Amino acid sequence: MNYEENDYILLSALQHFLFCPRQCALIHVEQVWTENMLTALGRIMHEKAHETKYEKRVNKIIAHGLRLFSKRLGLSGQTDIVEFNKIKNTGAGCTLSGFSGRWSAFPVEYKHGKPKRDHSDEVQLCAQAVCLEEMLDINIPEGALFYGKSRRRHLVVFTEELRGQTEKTAQKIHEMFRTRKTPKAEYSKKCNSCSLINKCLPKKTGGTTQASKYIKRMAGQFL
Ligand code: SF4
Repeated sequence: MNYEENDYILLSALQHFLFCPRQCALIHVEQVWTENMLTALGRIMHEKAHETKYEKRVNKIIAHGLRLFSKRLGLSGQTDIVEFNKIKNTGAGCTLSGFSGRWSAFPVEYKHGKPKRDHSDEVQLCAQAVCLEEMLDINIPEGALFYGKSRRRHLVVFTEELRGQTEKTAQKIHEMFRTRKTPKAEYSKKCNSCSLINKCLPKKTGGTTQASKYIKRMAGQFL
């Protein structure tokens, strides 16, 4: 089944959902948003990564900020960079408008921090690869995550397991959008690094499914 364009979810929702399903619902369903130091740094790194459109080097084209979508997973978004490397094998890779020859694709995503314990960054990158595969009719076996803290690239292999996790996560988010149900807050250590902690109020809203209702109720007391 293919999704309609109106039902596409943002690629970033995958990472938010794996960090905390409630955070994902607050941002993408209830559209509550706030910026803390961590998200501000992330945004600045992304803006830097999206400054240029194309860089041409010897046998390499670096595309910045490519728009992506997948009808199959109902996803849309933008890449930080995709490196296209010229390949000799005429039966593999893809063609690129305005450039001769055939090219392989290698997505690279910039992250401001350090590698996380969960696989949320890998899933987001894998989702980008799935989008590119569908758009370019190509196979993409691997990509990389670049972390600002270590200033190193980490190779990510798009295994069947990672692809499966990516697909499952996208399906769960679509389900959450369909039901429009925001999961209850569960206070844990990760809440302390969450940009929404002051909107979510996890210690107070544990039994409240819609943070916006709680916030309005609280605000009402002061009007
Ligand atoms: S504060 Fe905690 S429970 Fe609330 S959205 Fe953030 S991580 Fe999730």
